[in-house]
Amino acid sequence: MKALVKAKAEPGLWLDDRPVPEIGPDDVLIKINKTGICGTDIHIYAWDEWAQRTVPVPMIVGHEYAGVIAEVGANVRNLKIGQRVSGEGHVIGMNSRAARGGRFHLDPETKGVGVNIPGAFAEYLRLPAFNVVPLPDAVDDELGAILDPLGNAVHTALSFDLVGEDVLITGAGPIGIMSAAVARHVGARHVVITDINPTRLELAGTVADVTPVNVAKEDLPSVMARLGMKEGFDIGLEMSGAPSAFDQMVDNLVMGGKIAMLGIPSRPATVDWTKVVFKMLTLKGIYGREMFETWHKMLAMLESGLDIRKVITHRLSISDFKAGFDVMQSGNSGKIVLDWTR
Ligand code: NAD
Ligand code: ZN
Repeated sequence: MKALVKAKAEPGLWLDDRPVPEIGPDDVLIKINKTGICGTDIHIYAWDEWAQRTVPVPMIVGHEYAGVIAEVGANVRNLKIGQRVSGEGHVIGMNSRAARGGRFHLDPETKGVGVNIPGAFAEYLRLPAFNVVPLPDAVDDELGAILDPLGNAVHTALSFDLVGEDVLITGAGPIGIMSAAVARHVGARHVVITDINPTRLELAGTVADVTPVNVAKEDLPSVMARLGMKEGFDIGLEMSGAPSAFDQMVDNLVMGGKIAMLGIPSRPATVDWTKVVFKMLTLKGIYGREMFETWHKMLAMLESGLDIRKVITHRLSISDFKAGFDVMQSGNSGKIVLDWTR
């Protein structure tokens, strides 16, 4: 089968021929139709320090996908050949207290599809049946291919009650933008999203009914004054990984405000803890998606009017994957979907 492989310990990815994976009794084989390029894939493509530390070579990469079940293992009863599916890209163990207690997303033995185990940028993916998520008709393959990052957005946005709250999102990358759409969908009042990249801010405005703010040009107190907000934002969703964005968030939250943090700083950063303490802020780190509550809520919201399709800015054939990685690296894109069928 065709597969996009980290074949050498150097920058790049290679479209290679690999054997179709053999499945075990508790697995399914998924024929991949569409995949999304993630920031993680860019790290692996660029072969940065994190990737060198984390990814064994050779490795088929990719973890955002939609396809059709092509084969089911002997023990699998609830899934059928021909069913349209996506799936959770975190493969867990069943030994930890968290996993045995049903808190699957907190399992410390988690392995990443396309990071630690063979991934979805291929014509076929082996996946434990436990991880499979069937797709409703309302979710076509290109939306199915971006459920993983939408799940990050949903997990982060639903960490705190947003109804009637003023929400500050720092970072208008694809995930920040989708979280803005979710905040609007569930009933936040003001939704402000910041970035320093005008292309991304413009995209945010087309995907969701939000107030985009370029923090290189405008400060948040004047935005709040413009919106008639007196005290500060109630909830912050940190989606940039930029330490200065986190500082701005702390400065512009109300006393007792809450922050959900998805963004990953590229190096350890200093935090003014005095402000966090005296403002009595709550901070919550977010990793991945809740299995499988996030998946349920995200599919239900997509079926009931959540519309994030415009976050997909590029649709390319897998043979043009290099162009996709280039535009993604430039920062001038939303989500990029690669088609494995043409
Ligand atoms: P992205 O890199 O595409 O978007 C980040 C955005 O932040 C960019 O548009 C960038 O211009 C903007 N930014 C940079 N400095 C800023 C500043 N000072 N103020 C405001 N915005 C600023 O990333 P993404 O794919 O949308 O993901 C968002 C973040 O979440 C990334 O840090 C990513 O590594 C992280 N992530 C975490 C998880 C998890 O499980 N915790 C999963 C996926 C992604
Ligand atoms: Zn991803």
